[in-house]
Amino acid sequence: GDHVASGVREAFRVDSPNVVYTDKEIRSKYTYRTTNVVRDGNGTFVARPQATAYEFTVDRKIPKVGVMLVGWGGNNGTTITAGIIANRSKLTWETREGPRTANYYGSLIMGSTMKLGTDTKTNRDVNIPFHDVLPMVHPNDLVIGGWDISRMNLADAMDRAAVLEPTLKAQVRKQMANLVPLPSIYYPDFIAANQGDRVDNVLAGSTASMSHVEQIRRDIREFKQTHHLDKVIVQWTANTERYADLLDGVNDTAENLLRSIREGHGEISPSSIFAVASILEGAPFINGSPQNTFVPGVVQLAEKHEAFIAGDDFKSGQTKMKSALADFLINAGIKLTSIASYNHLGNNDGKNLSEQKQFRSKEISKSTVIDDMVEANTVLYQPGEHPDHTVVIKYMPAVGDNKRALDEYYAEIFLGGHQTISIFNVCEDSLLASPLIIDLVLVAEMMTRIRWRTLTAGDDSSFKGFHSVLSILSYMLKAPMTPPGTPVVNSLAKQRAALTNIFRACVGLEPESDMTLEHKLL
Ligand code: NAD
Repeated sequence: GDHVASGVREAFRVDSPNVVYTDKEIRSKYTYRTTNVVRDGNGTFVARPQATAYEFTVDRKIPKVGVMLVGWGGNNGTTITAGIIANRSKLTWETREGPRTANYYGSLIMGSTMKLGTDTKTNRDVNIPFHDVLPMVHPNDLVIGGWDISRMNLADAMDRAAVLEPTLKAQVRKQMANLVPLPSIYYPDFIAANQGDRVDNVLAGSTASMSHVEQIRRDIREFKQTHHLDKVIVQWTANTERYADLLDGVNDTAENLLRSIREGHGEISPSSIFAVASILEGAPFINGSPQNTFVPGVVQLAEKHEAFIAGDDFKSGQTKMKSALADFLINAGIKLTSIASYNHLGNNDGKNLSEQKQFRSKEISKSTVIDDMVEANTVLYQPGEHPDHTVVIKYMPAVGDNKRALDEYYAEIFLGGHQTISIFNVCEDSLLASPLIIDLVLVAEMMTRIRWRTLTAGDDSSFKGFHSVLSILSYMLKAPMTPPGTPVVNSLAKQRAALTNIFRACVGLEPESDMTLEHKLL
C-alpha cells in the first residue's frame, strides 16, 4: 500500500504481512502475549502463556483539533497558550543567559524518542521521535480557548501568573491580548474562599443546574464551529476543588447524577458539570486537578456515551520523581520505610491549597503513588505493610511559581543498615505542567482514532474503541484513574512502557523488550 498520507511523508513504514496501509488507515494484526496463572492443588502457581490475536486500525487523517481549558487564565493556561504561540512562530528571546528558542522540552510526545529497531548495517539502535510513531496532531496546530471565572485577557493574565520572561511576553502580548476566557461556573463552596477576589466572569447561579450544562455544551459547539474544528478536547486546569461527598441516590449513577443536577444539589462540583457537558458533547475530558470530579455517576455516564475521560491531577514534579525513585528502590530490593515530602510554593495554586479542604484533595492524590510497587514486592513487605508517607504543602508567596519540593527517602538496607536519599527539587511549576497538558491532549486525541477487535477463529466482531476511562494517559497523571475494577499502575517506567507498546502494537510492532539478544549471543 501507499505510505504517504495526504502528501506528508511518514518517518517509517512497517514492512510486514500483518500490516496494511491504505489512504485512510493503518491496519495491523497483533498477537498480545500474556501469562495466565492458576494455583494447583498443592498451592503451586501454574503459569500458562496466553496469546490473543487482535486487529487494530488507526485513522491516518490528522484532524483539526481545539483544546478548551477550564481555568484558561491561570498559570498553566496562560503558559501553554504563550508556549504554543511561541513554538508556532519559532520565537527567540533574550534571557540573562543568552537567547532562548521555543521548544517542547518536558513533553514526552514532542521531546522524547522510541527505539524503532536495530540498523542491519551498523548494528546500532534506530530511534525515532515519539511523535512520529503514529499519525499524531502537532501541538503547533492546536487551537486554544476556554473558560475562567476571571475575565482578564490572556496577556494580562500572563503577567499576573509571573512565569515567563519579559522578552518572551513582549513578543506574544498582542496575540494574547485578543484572547479572553468565556464566563465559567462558580460554586464558591468548592474552591478556597481566598479565590473570591478574582471572580468577575461567571454564569448566574451558585449550585448545579442543567442550564450550566447546556451553556458549556453550547460553548464547545460554538468554539468548534467558529474555528472549523473536527474535534474538541476539554481539560480542567482550574483551581483544585474540595472533594465532593459520595452520596447514594445523588451522584452514584448516571441517572441520579443528572437528576441531582436538575434539582440543583449542593454536592455537584463545577468540574463534574464540565465533565458531564463534555461527555454529552462527545469531547474527551481530562481532569488535571486532584479532586474527585469523576464521581461514579460521571464515570457511568461516560461509559454510556462511549466518551473518553481521564484523570486525575497532572504529575509534574515531586510525584513524578516519586513514581520513579520508589520504583527504583523497591525493585532494587531495598526496603523503603518512609517518605517525607514537603512543598512550598507561592503561586495562586499554592494560595488555593492553603485552605484545608483543597489541601486535602492534593494530599490524597499525592499519597497513593507507591501503593502498587509496595504491594508487588511480597519479599520486602508483608500484606498490609506500607512505608510511612507524609505530604506537607505550604503557601510561601515570595517564591512565586518556583515551587520547592523537598523529599527524604529513608530505606533499610543489608543487615540493618540505612540509606537516606534527600532531594531538593526547584522548578517553575507551570513550565513543568504545560507540556504534560499538551501530551494529554495529543494522546487522548490519538486514542479517538484507534479501534480494535479480537481475531478469534470464526469471529467477525466489529471494531470498537478503547474503554471510556483512558488509563493509557497515566504517565501524565498523579492519581491515574482506571476502568472500574482494574488495577492502578503508578510506576513511571511501566506507565511509559504501556504507552510505548500500545502505540507499537497499533502498527504491528512487538513491545520494546530490551533483551537485545542480538548483541548478547554473538
Ligand atoms: P492557577 O490558580 O494559576 O489557575 C487556575 C485558574 O482557574 C485561575 O485563573 C482561576 O481563576 C480559574 N478557575 C477557578 N475555578 C474555576 C472555574 N470553576 N471555572 C473556570 N475557571 C476557574 O493554577 P495553576 O498553577 O494554573 O494550576 C491549575 C491546576 O492544576 C491546579 O488545580 C493545580 O493543583 C493543578 N496542578 C498543577 C500542577 C503544576 O505543576 N502546575 C501540577 C499538578 C496539578
